[in-house]
Amino acid sequence: MALTLSKKAMAVKPSSTLAITAAAKKLRSEGVDVVGFGAGEPDFDTPDNIKAAAIQAIQDGFTKYTPASGTEELRQAVCDKLKRFNGLSYEPDQIVISNGGKHSLTNIFEVLLNPGDEVVIPAPYWLSYPEIVKLADGVPVFVTCSKENGYKITAEELAAACTERTKAFILNSPNNPTGSVYTEEELRALAEVIIEKDIYVVSDEMYENLIYDGKKHISIGSFGEEIYKRTITCSGMAKSYSMTGWRIGYTAASKEIARLMGSVQSHQTSNPNSIAQKAALEALCGSQTTVERMQKEFDRRRMNMYNRLLEMPYLEPNLPVGAFYVFVDMSKTIGKLYKGKQIDSVETLASILINDYRVAVIPCADFGFATHIRLSYAISMEQIEKGLDRIEACLMALEPAEAEVQACAFRTESLAKAS
Ligand SMILES: *Cc1c(COP(=O)(O)O)cnc(C)c1O
Repeated sequence: MALTLSKKAMAVKPSSTLAITAAAKKLRSEGVDVVGFGAGEPDFDTPDNIKAAAIQAIQDGFTKYTPASGTEELRQAVCDKLKRFNGLSYEPDQIVISNGGKHSLTNIFEVLLNPGDEVVIPAPYWLSYPEIVKLADGVPVFVTCSKENGYKITAEELAAACTERTKAFILNSPNNPTGSVYTEEELRALAEVIIEKDIYVVSDEMYENLIYDGKKHISIGSFGEEIYKRTITCSGMAKSYSMTGWRIGYTAASKEIARLMGSVQSHQTSNPNSIAQKAALEALCGSQTTVERMQKEFDRRRMNMYNRLLEMPYLEPNLPVGAFYVFVDMSKTIGKLYKGKQIDSVETLASILINDYRVAVIPCADFGFATHIRLSYAISMEQIEKGLDRIEACLMALEPAEAEVQACAFRTESLAKAS
């Protein structure tokens, strides 16, 4: 048999975004002033009331195993929150607390999929979805969403992507990387297709509290019994409460799915950290004023950033309605000349930005859109302004070329076809 390794593990695609992040880190460690637009987590500190609850838990000796699916009180608090905020009715035995939202998703797909089952993933997507599906022996099926529709999948597109083998569809609203939010009408149309095709929908609602323009978050599972029983709702503490390091996520599903997830988890990791569970309880049940303050500050940065990007040459930003990212179409920079050399890809432009302008952006090939970048506004207003000045300076240095190459658009197309 020789010393071979798992084909499945070797097929996992390492994140290309890491290259830029690593380059930025290296420059920073050399004392270079780099502006990083890569942040995938809020820049705020975890609220004090949440920290205090964790300290209290330690002092009270709440430091032992809890039930594998999480404490009864936290699962009850999740139910109360789902009822109050999402209009969803669940009992504690339908809830599984996991080690972060990513772990929730991992467990969900382990419980849903058999080898070869297809999962429809609208592109652009959060880069972990395809890898999580593949690790659970599933097959990701990508649907490239149109810019005209705010990079959101339509009911017709979902219906067309379904085959005999389709098991589930991943919905992510508010969306990472686009910041787009599905309207009630769009969600109802998708729900109809999900019911008709008789598939599951995994609704990743991680950014549910970060939503702007007076819009209200809507959970697809709240539209009645038929969609409710096909919905697996997943969320967590990380983005809403600035608790990325605490690692608490949760899933709400049928009793059967929750039971299977609990049993998988009982062998995998046992319970999530007991102290973090107490902190999560405080996050859900305590004062929400810091969440509201965070949301307001993100909103201010969002509009500043979007409006400035709109005025820059070549760029076509998508107006985000949720989360903390602006998704920017960079197609018009492709084929332009920089110092006499043609820009052949968004990655090339990203390396020019980091090396010559000291600004890190995330190229979105791994998010299924090779023509775009993602800019996070989970950094201070001052940093945002400095970073945008630098991006603008770089764009001003570009010159038109004779024959403009469409290599990037072509790559996005072949990514979609490769599925
Ligand atoms: C950050 C994120 C998650 C998971 O976050 P955890 O840190 O694992 O709780 C899930 N989905 C999306 C879209 C995210 O951006």
